[in-house]
Amino acid sequence: MDRYSMETYLRNHPWGPALSPGAVEMIKVIWDLEGLSEYSFLGISEILNLFLDPRMHFYEISGGFDQLPKAFLPQLKEEIRFRQQMVKIRQERDRVLIYTRNRETGEISQYEGDRAIITIPFSVLRWVKLDPRDSFSHNKRKAIRELHYVPSVKTGLQFKSRFWEQEGLWGGKAVTDLPIRFTYYPNHGIGSGGPGVVLASYTWEDDAAPWDGLSEEERILRALENMARLHGSRAYREFITGSSFSWTRHPWSAGSVSLYEPLQYTELFPFIPTPEGRVHFAGEHTSSTPGWIEGAIESGIRAAVEVNGERRGKTIEI
Ligand SMILES: Cc1cc2nc3c(=O)[nH]c(=O)nc-3n(C[C@H](O)[C@H](O)[C@H](O)COP(=O)(O)OP(=O)(O)OC[C@H]3O[C@@H](n4cnc5c(N)ncnc54)[C@H](O)[C@@H]3O)c2cc1C
Repeated sequence: MDRYSMETYLRNHPWGPALSPGAVEMIKVIWDLEGLSEYSFLGISEILNLFLDPRMHFYEISGGFDQLPKAFLPQLKEEIRFRQQMVKIRQERDRVLIYTRNRETGEISQYEGDRAIITIPFSVLRWVKLDPRDSFSHNKRKAIRELHYVPSVKTGLQFKSRFWEQEGLWGGKAVTDLPIRFTYYPNHGIGSGGPGVVLASYTWEDDAAPWDGLSEEERILRALENMARLHGSRAYREFITGSSFSWTRHPWSAGSVSLYEPLQYTELFPFIPTPEGRVHFAGEHTSSTPGWIEGAIESGIRAAVEVNGERRGKTIEI
């Protein structure tokens, strides 16, 4: 199945007659696949199946997701170095050296260890110098070059009241073929008075491109115009402010999450999580659940077991 893109699967799937162009268009609009239908059928199915499986439950951390990284803080705070950009990985016979540049002062620092666990996305690992270059295998370097990252833009708008609730929208999302594509209404504080924030636009891949080229101010304006198409001129009267973020323009991720192209599960994935000498890899892109927080956590546990299992002289099967 790895050879199928979502588009080729819908048009030429092996289990029965091909879908008509109209049916394919409907599926792509409703499932927000128009922007990314040329990517891996398996990769996209992994995401869609989670939403289609009625046994699936989604959890949230009450009070905000930043509590997850903050929960690690008491144990790690002595070890964290802020504003250090990794610029070079040097491997020697009995140690690994990580070089960083301080983003404020430009000063270069060097950290030495028996092992290093690298968790940055491959899209930005491309900027990090390898010394020597062949300390990473050919297949790892190929995966770092080729792994695809999804462009994504979100625009949020704040309104004076939660007027959408008067229209029967208590949480949930609207799907449209307007440039905003997906709109998410807050599922917290339903029925409470006062202002509310709507994720007016959430776009991926080709759907994100028209937004990426705009300034933040223009994105907010265009999102508001689109919201007025859904809710009428009241959207303008209720508007307070907005905010927008492009993960493509973000220098520390250069994209949102990894998503395979056809054949990349077979050709790239086997080489992505594997250690290279003294260097181990973690992060959502190295996991069996790419694109999810769960994948990032799973990969962190796997890398910790790799390093600690080995240190104790044991081989641990995972
Ligand atoms: C728009 C969007 C929506 C999402 N929605 C969901 C969702 O609903 N549910 C879900 O489970 N997941 C979701 N995800 C995915 C989830 O956020 C990621 O899978 C997860 O955060 C990845 O964690 P990570 O540790 O692998 O990478 P990151 O969180 O990207 O961490 C990598 C870190 O490396 C740092 N870094 C980069 N380059 C360097 C360098 N040279 N030197 C030093 N540091 C560097 C970065 O600053 C960053 O802090 C979403 C992601 C996006 C972008």
